[in-house]
Amino acid sequence: MDPMIRLIYASRIAPNFGPADVHDILRASRRNNPPLGLTGVLVMADGYFLQALEGARSPVNALYARILLDRRHTDSAILSYRDIDRRDFGDWSMGYVLSSEKNREMFLAYSLDATFSPLDLGTSAAQAMLGELTDHARRLGGTAPAQAEG
Ligand code: FAD
Repeated sequence: MDPMIRLIYASRIAPNFGPADVHDILRASRRNNPPLGLTGVLVMADGYFLQALEGARSPVNALYARILLDRRHTDSAILSYRDIDRRDFGDWSMGYVLSSEKNREMFLAYSLDATFSPLDLGTSAAQAMLGELTDHARRLGGTAPAQAEG
């Protein structure tokens, strides 16, 4: 049986990226991920993406291979790839967390200076940061779990 895994990667947002692009990515994710049994969260801040993808190994690998070809970002690097017993983002087909005044301290706690740079994060820090950010987003509530923003 295909083991369940969580893949976490970071990448740089492409220079010509605009608001419509994030809308398109989330719409495609929320349409494509549920039938593949994939869940996760996408964080966008300071010119970077940080994303966790969870599910059976084959569809996670196939999606990451597709995402790698996407010109809306560059310099993608896998920060963590591990077997899991349970999902952390099981209620999100693709949650979305943006840097804001409400969560800024959490970003900076995982940064070397005043700019968030997830490509420098180690495996444990990436996992811990995503956990903190998403717990915070869930506590704030106000958005449906599958559509969480902010
Ligand atoms: P479509 O419905 O064909 O495309 C949706 C829209 O995005 C269209 O407007 C199209 O013009 C535009 N678009 C599609 N591909 C590209 C591209 N390569 N470059 C520029 N514009 C494009 N997809 C998922 O299914 N699940 C995810 O979790 C996911 N996460 C992503 C995270 C990041 C950081 C990025 C950059 C992309 C992510 N994507 C994700 C998008 C993925 O790369 C593919 O674009 C998408 O899976 C194609 O699905 P589709 O054929 O149904 O999209």
